[in-house]
Amino acid sequence: MKITDIDCHVLLVPDVRTDATSSAQDDIVVFVHTDEGITGVGESDVNPWIARACIEAPSTHSMGLSLREMLIGENPLDTELLWQKLYVGSCMNGRRGAVINAIGAIDMALWDIRGKAAGQPTWQLLGGTPREAIQPYASLQPNGNNFEEYRDSLVEWVLRARTIGFRAAKLEITLFGPYNHTGMNENDDKVTEVLAACRNAVGPDFTLMVDVQYAWDSADRALATVRDWEEFEVYFLETPLWVDDLEGYARMHDESGIRIAAGEWQTTRHEFEDLMDRGKVDVAQPDVGRVGGLTEAMKVCDMAAERDRQIIPHCWKTGISISASAHLAAVTPHCPYFEYLPAELTDSKLRQELVQDDLQLIDGKLAIPQKPGLGIEVNMDALKRFKQD
Ligand SMILES: [Mg+2]
Repeated sequence: MKITDIDCHVLLVPDVRTDATSSAQDDIVVFVHTDEGITGVGESDVNPWIARACIEAPSTHSMGLSLREMLIGENPLDTELLWQKLYVGSCMNGRRGAVINAIGAIDMALWDIRGKAAGQPTWQLLGGTPREAIQPYASLQPNGNNFEEYRDSLVEWVLRARTIGFRAAKLEITLFGPYNHTGMNENDDKVTEVLAACRNAVGPDFTLMVDVQYAWDSADRALATVRDWEEFEVYFLETPLWVDDLEGYARMHDESGIRIAAGEWQTTRHEFEDLMDRGKVDVAQPDVGRVGGLTEAMKVCDMAAERDRQIIPHCWKTGISISASAHLAAVTPHCPYFEYLPAELTDSKLRQELVQDDLQLIDGKLAIPQKPGLGIEVNMDALKRFKQD
């Protein structure tokens, strides 16, 4: 089988708000076509115009080859070999960051092709022992233009998540810091107030995670708030500190009494090595697209297993990435949850319309996917409606 072409689609929701902290408003969707009529689909969580340029830019020299040109004519089933070829060939421009994010979308599509070609769900080709079921957590980023609206809508959404059948949810509590939601600037105690309101609403028999999106500017300041959180039984605290403050992360691990989670932005196993060994994070959160695709995500899973850490994939995109996360979780025993943006509990039209899933939560769990490849179908009418030039 040979790769004949690659299509990149830049998608954007019609009501995009650049002051909202939600990357579910845009998407790069990549289709990889083959001479045997099989097409694979992948996506990545990155500015889609940047990702498209990373894929389509022509080669200029041997250390800056075009991703697209490197793929045409290759066998799409050679996922490991192609990952290395793309990584090495683009290394002067890439190595980390957006080029790896773009390689991730391509790699996801290649694994979709591999599954479809074999007539098997992709997880069967990833290796490892399949689990009986996988457990998503509902990821909740409410809207609201002031503190009270934000707190109250988060309480309402966590209750709705429970009603839909989830047993776990993550509260995005982004009240200050570099990515403060819609310009809010509350004091540190308000984070605890939102958490307490949600815990009170759902009661003790429900798992809560918290993501503050890099809000605190020092471990001292973060610890001053979260040291008092024992009663709320937070499963993990995500990205409490700036991404580069690995010493601060190590202190959070040592002193907070809460599992510390990070990794949503990290690309390649090399950045996860730093995060786990220097930053001591308890929960590694590779985003399948961003980290470099399923090929690289599986390596991060192996590294986490060697270090006795958990894997809980980040996913804030459409059903394409959710499916890729589900296939990863299916063969990763140290993956207790994976992130899931419920179509009913988001205002992202892309999430709601690009891929429709037939989610059936039973006791908070999902069955392992059984259709060939990633097992999803893109709604091409929706894709056309969201498509940008
Ligand atoms: Mg996050």
